Amino acid sequence: MSTPNNMPTIGKDALGREVKDLTKISWWGMNRKEINWYPTIDHDKCAGCGLCFVTCGRRVFDWDDKLSKPVVAQPYNCMVGCQTCANLCPTSAISFPDVSEMKKLVAKNNVVKKSFEKIAPLINCDKPLDDEETESNFNKS
Ligand code: SF4
Ligand code: SF4
Repeated sequence: MSTPNNMPTIGKDALGREVKDLTKISWWGMNRKEINWYPTIDHDKCAGCGLCFVTCGRRVFDWDDKLSKPVVAQPYNCMVGCQTCANLCPTSAISFPDVSEMKKLVAKNNVVKKSFEKIAPLINCDKPLDDEETESNFNKS
């Protein structure tokens, strides 16, 4: 995942790369720190290959020299809904909350309606679906 450049730098990671504070970026109007979406590493399963640490552009991970394994250093820098590191991990050592929790959050926060309002000009429609329609359509998917 790419890192927005205009956010404040809060330090450097073990490879000397800048770490930005991405927690100020709200998620569809919600405070990022109120959304418990971030990776958890099972260090018993982790092979210490470094793939998650090197590839996450949001600097969620840092490297623990004593463990010789990554740690989750900036959990709320994680992109809500992303699971790239878990998909890439060769030993399936990374887990995320159940996706159903995300879907509940999407419904509760009217995210589908908000998204539809954004794309309405593109699809030549000036009447967004109401809450009931959007939630009902979303729950069908
Ligand atoms: S990708 Fe998986 S095995 Fe490799 S360092 Fe990360 S958690 Fe460990
Ligand atoms: S899911 Fe993994 S790769 Fe994606 S932003 Fe979060 S920590 Fe980074």
